[in-house]
Amino acid sequence: MPMSVAKKVLFLVFDGLGDRPVPELGDLTPLEAAATPNFDAIAAKSICGLSNALGRGIRPGSDVSHLAIFGYPMEQYYTGRGPIEVAGLGIALQEGDIAFRGNFGTVDENWNILDRRAGRIRVVDEFAAALDGMEIDGVQVLVKPGTAHRAGVVFRGKGLSANITDADPHAEGLPVLEVKPADDSPEAAFTAKVINKFMRRAYEILDPMEANAKRKAAGEFPANFMLLRGAGIYPTLPKFAEKYGLKACCIAGGGLYKGIGAFLGMDLIDVPGATALPDSDVKAKFIAAKKALGDYDFVFTHVKATDSLAEDGNWAGKKDFIEKCDAAAAELLDLPEDVLLVVTADHSTACELKAHTADPVPILFCSPHVRRDEVVSFGERAFSKGGLGRMVGSDVMPEVMNILGRLHLIGA
Ligand code: ZN
Repeated sequence: MPMSVAKKVLFLVFDGLGDRPVPELGDLTPLEAAATPNFDAIAAKSICGLSNALGRGIRPGSDVSHLAIFGYPMEQYYTGRGPIEVAGLGIALQEGDIAFRGNFGTVDENWNILDRRAGRIRVVDEFAAALDGMEIDGVQVLVKPGTAHRAGVVFRGKGLSANITDADPHAEGLPVLEVKPADDSPEAAFTAKVINKFMRRAYEILDPMEANAKRKAAGEFPANFMLLRGAGIYPTLPKFAEKYGLKACCIAGGGLYKGIGAFLGMDLIDVPGATALPDSDVKAKFIAAKKALGDYDFVFTHVKATDSLAEDGNWAGKKDFIEKCDAAAAELLDLPEDVLLVVTADHSTACELKAHTADPVPILFCSPHVRRDEVVSFGERAFSKGGLGRMVGSDVMPEVMNILGRLHLIGA
C-alpha cells in the first residue's frame, strides 16, 4: 500500500483556553483540573507544545491573535475591528471600503446621547433597511443588521480614509462628536465630511419612522441614531485559499470569529445551537466540522465560552465547560488518517485576572504523520514537555503546511 499523506486540516481554537493555577483546584489550571479523557487520547497521538500568538510578553486581543495564527500579521492586515465584524455579517468587502461597527442608539433633538443601544432594542432590520443603499457625494453606504442593537456600516467609493476621529463619545448624556480628519490628507477630510452627512441623514430618516413613533408611545427609546466606531479600511489581502491553496470554511458562534473567517475569504457554515455561550452545542459543531471535511481542505472551528467564563473569573464554569467539550470530542477520535487535527487557543485568559494574559497556550498537531512525543495529557504544564517546544503564531501555518508536505524548498 502506498504511503498516504495528510491532506485536510481540522483546526480547532478554544478561545482563552490557557489559564493560571487556581488554589481551589489544588493549584491546577481549569484545563489541568478538568477530566479530559478524549483530548488526552488525542494528545497521546500528537506532537505537542506551547504557543504565544504574538510572541512572548504580548497580551493579544482575539482578533489580532487569530490573524497571526492564520499567517496575517497585524502590522500588515489589521486596520480596526470594523472590517472584521462587518465581514461576519455577510457584506462582501472590497479593497478600499471603510467599515464600521455601528450601534443603533437614541439621541435627543440636540444629539445628546440618551441611550447608546436604543434601550437594548432586539431587532433592527427595519431601521438598517431604511439606511441601506444611501448615497452621499458619490459614496455608497451599506448598512446590515447585526445582533440586537448592532449593525455593520460600510462606505464604498473612491478616495476614502479610515484615519478619522470617532463620533461615539462612549458615554450617555454627552453629545455626539463631530467626525474630524486625523491627518492632513484630502481623503481623511472627504471621509469625515461624508460621515457627518451620513449621521445627519440617518437621524432625519430614522427619527420620524413609524416604528420609532410606536417605540416612543410605548415609553421605549427610539432607534433614531447610528453611532459608528472601530473604523478600518479593508486592506489588499490574499484570501486564505489563495495563500495556502486550501479551500477553507469557518464554523463559529461568535460574530467576531465568523468575521475573521469571512475577512480571510473562508465560507461560513452556520450550525444550529452554536451560540458562543456556555450552552453552545459543541458536539453539533464538531459533527458539522467533520462533515465539512468532505467539501473543504481546511475547517476552522471556534469555541468561545472558555474565554468568556474566565473573563468572569468563573474557574469552576470553565473547568465544567472544558469537560463538556471533551465529551463532544469523542466525535474527533475517528478522523480519517488524511486529516490533520490541530487544537490550540488564541491566548490565555486567566480567571484570577479576569483578563487575557501573555501566558502561552497549548497547541497540538494530531496525525499519523507527526513525530509523536511523550505527552499523554491535555494541559498547559504537560504540553511544556512536548516535542514542538515553544512556538509563536506565525509558526503555526508553516507547521501545518510542512505536515501536509506543501512547503516550498528553500535553496537547492
Ligand atoms: Zn480570544
